[in-house]
Amino acid sequence: MPEFDVLVIGGGASGLRAAIAAKRAGASVAMLSKVHPLRTNSALSPGGLNAPLGPDDSPEKFSRDIMNAGDGLCDTEAVSVLAAEAAREVVWLERVGVPFNRDADGRLDRRPLGAGSVQRAAYADDRTGHMVLHVLHEQFQREDIPCFQEWFVTSLIQDGGVCTGAVALGHRSGQIETFGAGAVVLATGGSTQLYRPCTAAAGTTGDGLMLAYDLGVGLVDLEMVQFHPTVYSAAQTVLISEATLSEGARFVNAAGDPLLDAAGLTRAQLAAEVHKAGRNGGGPVSLDLRPVDNLTSRFPTAAELVKVMAGLDITRDPVPVQPVAHRPMGGIETNAAGETSVAGLYAVGECAHNGLNGAGRLPGNTLTEAVVFGKRVGEAAAGHAKSAGARDGDGSGASADGERLAGITSGGSTGDTMGAIHRELGELMNANLGVARTEAGLAEAQEKIGALQQRHAALRVNNQSRIYNYALTGYIELGNLLKLAEATALAARGRAESRGAHLRSDHPEKDDSNWKAHTVVRSQDGAPKLDTRAVSA
Ligand SMILES: Cc1cc2nc3c(=O)[nH]c(=O)nc-3n(C[C@H](O)[C@H](O)[C@H](O)COP(=O)(O)OP(=O)(O)OC[C@H]3O[C@@H](n4cnc5c(N)ncnc54)[C@H](O)[C@@H]3O)c2cc1C
Repeated sequence: MPEFDVLVIGGGASGLRAAIAAKRAGASVAMLSKVHPLRTNSALSPGGLNAPLGPDDSPEKFSRDIMNAGDGLCDTEAVSVLAAEAAREVVWLERVGVPFNRDADGRLDRRPLGAGSVQRAAYADDRTGHMVLHVLHEQFQREDIPCFQEWFVTSLIQDGGVCTGAVALGHRSGQIETFGAGAVVLATGGSTQLYRPCTAAAGTTGDGLMLAYDLGVGLVDLEMVQFHPTVYSAAQTVLISEATLSEGARFVNAAGDPLLDAAGLTRAQLAAEVHKAGRNGGGPVSLDLRPVDNLTSRFPTAAELVKVMAGLDITRDPVPVQPVAHRPMGGIETNAAGETSVAGLYAVGECAHNGLNGAGRLPGNTLTEAVVFGKRVGEAAAGHAKSAGARDGDGSGASADGERLAGITSGGSTGDTMGAIHRELGELMNANLGVARTEAGLAEAQEKIGALQQRHAALRVNNQSRIYNYALTGYIELGNLLKLAEATALAARGRAESRGAHLRSDHPEKDDSNWKAHTVVRSQDGAPKLDTRAVSA
């Protein structure tokens, strides 16, 4: 059985940063990732990453903006950590090679994103995530950290209440292997594939959330899902950075008349306004990018993708846009050091809820969160692993998972398909747990999710091979999404108020006396149970 001090699951920005930090803290480290690290969601970020870099900014101002976007649900320790450490991390990224744009004086240039009070996002044209990920991957390789890529983690190992490793299926070998570890870091990304359409990469299926949930760890604020207001959506989606709005782009109706003023609105408010405008009968809402100076050199990726996917020229044509599911604010319950309620198990990045984002994330904070908390959590996991005793895993997790996978591939076909179930789930989530929600819609969603779960349970994968059997891992991913949908609908129905990204038309007001609290869903006797916990000041 391969053994390491720290096992990082996930090769996006947060996993890479955690692995580098754990190795530099003296731990033996390995990474497991179901796709190659350079093919993760992190590469898709166009806009930038926030840090208080200029003389007009400060950690205090940054904290205030984060709390404003979080609409009462931010835990202050995580906010203080991010605000204090963001600038150092961005400067480190620049020193190790990220080609950030510079201003006329040669300093790191900053662009405004969303409702921040100052220009705060360091950026590399509209390829920021791509650049950050490549540079992190280069640093990761320099540390000579073993990377088990195309290994799909199927379960975590828990021994005496302590997490001691993980079980994974190697796509290439078809082998199921147990990996022992003194500490495990989940950096598995989000769950936006719950929705159709969505902006996220295909593997964003909430696997890490379900791995933790199955060990009894709570999932916090799942009802808080951010919709991005400027997405072209047809067969494929193209996210056009919100930075275009602060550089002059405007929302227009079918006749080309201006529709709404985006200034000062949080992303949640903007998504709600665009959603409303799209339903007012004035035809599709479009983004007119022509007023942006140097449009194609500042936003080259958007220009190219809109041309290829929509056949439109952004220098001439307004682009139809709509709010599209983008990122969850909720996730695996952790403290600001990434510790979960299970000793030895940590979580970081988009899969985690450490209290930073509350009910709404400040645009440009996700990459910053990934690197700032990636470093902290990697160091904390390395510290834990040093003090943890020897691991003596027996491989029984691998045989149990082998039997589980064999069960999925044995038996006849029901005529149903995973594609149909996933499509119906995504459309249901979009309709009933989208930008605006109602009690009736949420109740209907719960019922229909239950029916989809039954169809999934009856389904079998015909291919019995384990080698590159994406239908097999796809089955597990879809099962994870359905369980997560069940928990999300429960949390959304429970929160009888409107706050941040959670808009209830039947409870349009914010209700601080009852709901200035986090929702927490835990698995109890095989069913999700909803609880609440106070926001920490
Ligand atoms: C279109 C788009 C635009 C964005 N724009 C911005 C922006 O401008 N600024 C910003 O700050 N943020 C932005 N974001 C958000 C940001 O890119 C991501 O939230 C962030 O990079 C997530 O990083 P992560 O490391 O947590 O997860 P990811 O990058 O999603 O990585 C997850 C990793 O986990 C692995 N994994 C998952 N499940 C398993 C499993 N079962 N077994 C093994 N491995 C597994 C995957 O293979 C992957 O390597 C954007 C996101 C999208 C989709």
